[in-house]
Amino acid sequence: MRIGHGYDLHRLEPPPPEGSGRPFILGGLNLEHPTGPVGHSDGDVLLHAVTDAILGALGEPDIGRLFPDDDPRHDGADSAIFLEEAVRRMSARGFTLGNIDITIICERPRISPHVDELKSRLAGWLKTSVDRVNIKGKTHEKVDAVGEGRAIEAHVVILLEPIRE
Ligand code: MG
Repeated sequence: MRIGHGYDLHRLEPPPPEGSGRPFILGGLNLEHPTGPVGHSDGDVLLHAVTDAILGALGEPDIGRLFPDDDPRHDGADSAIFLEEAVRRMSARGFTLGNIDITIICERPRISPHVDELKSRLAGWLKTSVDRVNIKGKTHEKVDAVGEGRAIEAHVVILLEPIRE
């Protein structure tokens, strides 16, 4: 078995011209919020942290090395392409998902109403069943950048198991 850890944070800003925020995309869902992540791609912290957890478990280069943020091909990119590449590498290396546990931290919007949909979307990308995917939403108790609504972060722990023939 292989264990992996992923972490990501993106600044949240209003859309242009007030700021540089993109639409609030999380796990591929648009949550319709007055601020959104600043990022070279679509800024999806959840998919970025999951991608890095898989790559970390495999001992492969992280998302920033595989998909450099100065590459114009990734400007505004759908982060699903990063996750799909990590899953492709996982399968190619002979692994399947054991389970994944995720914590998303932001003050607003609330994550809990979206947890079931996020879990089922992730299970699809990870080619696994929903019962192997766990997602928790938390606030940062109004302190520091995350608590003041200026950032969102995600923490991920993943276990990969060898594919049994
Ligand atoms: Mg990121």
